[in-house]
Amino acid sequence: MKARIAVLPGDGIGPEVMPQALQALEAIAKQFGHSFEFRHADVGGAAIDKTGRPLPDDTLKLAKESDAILLGAVGGYKWEGLAYDVRPERALLGLREQLGLFANLRPAKLYPMLADASTLKPEVIIGTDLLVVRELTGGIYFGKPKGIEKTADGERGVNTEVYTTPEIVRIAKVAFEAARKRRKKVMSVDKANVLESSELWRRVVIGVAKDYPDIELSHLYVDNCAMQLIRNPKQFDVLVTTNLFGDILSDEAAMLTGSIGMLPSASIGSGVGMYEPIHGSAPDIAGKDIANPIATIASAAMMLSYSFNLDQEAAAIERAIVRVLEQGYRTKDIQSPTGKLVGTQEMGRLIRAELGKA
Ligand code: NAD
Repeated sequence: MKARIAVLPGDGIGPEVMPQALQALEAIAKQFGHSFEFRHADVGGAAIDKTGRPLPDDTLKLAKESDAILLGAVGGYKWEGLAYDVRPERALLGLREQLGLFANLRPAKLYPMLADASTLKPEVIIGTDLLVVRELTGGIYFGKPKGIEKTADGERGVNTEVYTTPEIVRIAKVAFEAARKRRKKVMSVDKANVLESSELWRRVVIGVAKDYPDIELSHLYVDNCAMQLIRNPKQFDVLVTTNLFGDILSDEAAMLTGSIGMLPSASIGSGVGMYEPIHGSAPDIAGKDIANPIATIASAAMMLSYSFNLDQEAAAIERAIVRVLEQGYRTKDIQSPTGKLVGTQEMGRLIRAELGKA
């Protein structure tokens, strides 16, 4: 297949980890006979420095005209004093809005050889392999009325949790489709015992499930889910939930595995999907060749699977990552007493070498 990929390295460690992902994709293209065209553009602080804006029109146009977007990270000390609406991080919101990216997918998978990095006991955490599907463009972050108003005795702050049937249907479909590529279980998380918006959420998810008889659907209240993630994370396959609950649960799930440098993410809508590591630009370690490139390489693997349906190719990248870790190679963030310490570029090279052997 042929695909045009918008490459937005961004700031900090973004430009260091991105080449490692692109080289892994090139190795895959060669091995499986695909052609990936990489088209680079500035985003975040790098774009502010050149154009004064975190998401220049040219970058947005390039993103819209591509088949998928691979993003590094944005932000850094240099731009911290800027007004909120021209900060590097605004670029992410702009891309989500403009591309209609309504679903955020975050896998949290524990590599058994890294169990020590988790704060949970190995017997609890080993075997964890779950995916949080978070609704990204609706719910309480966008609902109206919102705001703070003066009252006779002080002030009143308001936000509104609101979901419509179409919004719930489309996110539920993403979850059921994702489950088809996995262990075929969906857990819908809500607060249907208290919130009407959650009552509707549950009812609509149950309706969508009728089109997916091969998928097992269950429901949990969000407070119970937060507990279950710590008590027994292995029970979960795909979790689907609202914007607010997903914001909290996806961070909780990510931290189960203990290492921010390992975790990829996808934001998808009806068109172009965007793939990025969950970590930020890590300005404290930028430019030192010590950042872990695995989250970005794994994001490229998610792109192959979710945007291009190249599941075999995505699995090849994931296997290469596992084999390099099995051989004991570690970047600084996941280093163990017996690990062989390597830098960003060397970790990327080792993963490519494994891909070449396959
Ligand atoms: P961060 O994720 O950049 O860093 C948190 C800690 O994790 C740091 O100690 C960092 O060195 C470490 N770390 C992160 N990624 C790593 C990797 N691949 N390998 C090894 N260590 C890694 O979060 P932060 O420090 O809160 O934010 C830094 C900047 O990034 C801020 O400007 C923030 O707004 C921005 N940010 C951007 C995104 C994004 O682009 N999606 C996400 C979060 C934060």
